Amino acid sequence: MLATCTRLCLLPAMWVGFSLLTTTPALAQKTYMHCGRLLDMRQDRLQPEMTLVVENGRVVAVERGYTAPTTGNDKVIDLKNRTVMPGLIDCHVHLEGETSKDQFLQEFTQNPADVAFGSLSHARLTLMAGFTTVRDLGGSGVNLALRNAVARGEVVGPRIFTVGKAISGTGGHMDPTNGYRQDLMGIPGPSEGVANGPDQCRQAVREQYKRGADLIKIASTGGVLSVAKDGSGAQMTEEEIRAIVETARDLGLKVACHAHGAEGMKRAIRAGVTSIEHGTLMDDETMKLMKKYGTWYVPTITAGKSVADSAKIPNYYPPLVTPKALAIGPKLQETFGRAYKAGVKIAFGTDAAVFRHGVNALEFRYMVEAGMPPLQALRSATVHAAELLGQSSSLGTLEPGKLADVVAVEGDPLQDIGAMQKVRFVMKQGVVYRQE
Ligand SMILES: [Zn+2]
Repeated sequence: MLATCTRLCLLPAMWVGFSLLTTTPALAQKTYMHCGRLLDMRQDRLQPEMTLVVENGRVVAVERGYTAPTTGNDKVIDLKNRTVMPGLIDCHVHLEGETSKDQFLQEFTQNPADVAFGSLSHARLTLMAGFTTVRDLGGSGVNLALRNAVARGEVVGPRIFTVGKAISGTGGHMDPTNGYRQDLMGIPGPSEGVANGPDQCRQAVREQYKRGADLIKIASTGGVLSVAKDGSGAQMTEEEIRAIVETARDLGLKVACHAHGAEGMKRAIRAGVTSIEHGTLMDDETMKLMKKYGTWYVPTITAGKSVADSAKIPNYYPPLVTPKALAIGPKLQETFGRAYKAGVKIAFGTDAAVFRHGVNALEFRYMVEAGMPPLQALRSATVHAAELLGQSSSLGTLEPGKLADVVAVEGDPLQDIGAMQKVRFVMKQGVVYRQE
């Protein structure tokens, strides 16, 4: 997968995208994409021999058969031996970092500029793997600048919706100073995403809003990779979560909630969070509550498997982290299978960074292994993910008026979900980034 970026292909259609940055394009150019099989998310099936017509970064028509261009200025993209679908959406990534044996030391060795340069390759790999949109669920704040640089067309990456810095209580999963020397790290407060009591929680939300966050992320329970003993117990009161959700709602922001243990999930669901991330120890009662409140589940199975594997490598994680990774990681896939059967709403998310960026599509395989039909897994990364983001009017399906985010794979993913790891074409907002 790493080799794919060397095959990066910025086709002449590039100017279509850059023209979006100027007031009006000098001359409209249409792109006719001849699709051997087009995944029709409205009718839930593959349509053979279709043409997608793209202009100024948007889909303008979807036609039966292979339509020929009407002017010499138009161009044709041949995807006749590919399966074509809407751009994929990963609802849980962290583009700033990536797992490594010295990731905990990096807190002391990396300046924000180092983080920023490192994030460029993560963003590029994610886009080349077919993920044209992501939710970045937490970093230092560099992710806000990365989002803006991608949006301006200065760097190559997916469209980013980011939380900036995630929020929890002192010693909680999002306290960046857990386990470190106090004189080196100081005592973080609401500005750094560490908040205690409803007032500080409200302030923490407003801080992220002020910096430009698109949504808010909290951790209502412990987590695997924080240097702290407990990975699943509740770490925020329902009153604190409610203060966060209400403040976020006033500011037009949704709330994503990291949680492994059931009690922390239940508090968050009752308080009105939009999504539960991981949800590892979700019990039947929690699933019922999620259905009642319409809460989304973002499973991140790949991360669970990955931390369990890494924990088997001696000294890969600090001693406090290893037992949590071994206990929590392997449970996610089974939880996902039960949640799917129970009818919980599911949006695709991987927690990329916990494993290497660019292999996000592995999650499809794990979802199908756990009992979700391939078509539903694809819906979770398109239609449903767009709904979770509140972007259904522009993302998630290929219909006239929507953004031209288009991915094509080799093979038929409805027959063999492994095809999702064979991405051969990526277009984001009318600009071709990969074609082979
Ligand atoms: Zn995460």
